[in-house]
Amino acid sequence: MRVTWLEHSSMMVQLPRKTLIFDYYGQPPLTLDPRCTTVFLNSHHHGDHWNRTILEYGSDQVWYVLSHDIFAPEDEHHRHVRADQTLQLEGIEIRTLPSTDEGVAMIVRTEGWSIYHAGDLNWWHWKADNAAEEADNQRMKQRYFEQLEKVAHQHFDLAMIPADPRLEEAYYWGLDAWMRRTETDWVIPMHFFGRNETIDRLKAQPQCQDYVGRILDLRNGPVELKKKGVKSCGD
Ligand SMILES: [Zn+2]
Repeated sequence: MRVTWLEHSSMMVQLPRKTLIFDYYGQPPLTLDPRCTTVFLNSHHHGDHWNRTILEYGSDQVWYVLSHDIFAPEDEHHRHVRADQTLQLEGIEIRTLPSTDEGVAMIVRTEGWSIYHAGDLNWWHWKADNAAEEADNQRMKQRYFEQLEKVAHQHFDLAMIPADPRLEEAYYWGLDAWMRRTETDWVIPMHFFGRNETIDRLKAQPQCQDYVGRILDLRNGPVELKKKGVKSCGD
């Protein structure tokens, strides 16, 4: 499986028989391999996770799995998902979790791989200036951990999770909680709004040292993740 970081939270995952493209909003432009099934998966309607122009990639080989809050056609090739739903599509199982922001997170199982893309499901702990904001943070924590309970102790080959520098000292909390409650082999931090040096900060973060070797840095290009005898689509 080859994983390419396109931008922000946009990731391309190339498997032997299909390509999965998460939270793509049109940048950079893509050339799709006509030999591969391509599935676009978009977690919610925000402009940093979705753009209507990506519908122009549509063909017989292309499918879209779109959160219910995305305004787009609904037909065989354009499927909408709600929270806590499981969808089967082209040999792919897609399970959704409700986001703590908008839309859904997606767990994708196909060709023996188990892949999580959080979208904006995260522990959004913002600096609190008063009791009301502190209470918001407490509710957020509870909502996030309710979702983690649903996947506790489960194995994932790959998880893609926000480590948003705007959260200041809480930027890694959601990712860290995921890594401690699940059995995740590799994690890709994302949602940096251009502050890509956050990867260096994360790798140096004392609380993340238990799994620092499993944090992937895709700034210099795609990574190839291997299980026995598996090639990537396009090889
Ligand atoms: Zn976002």
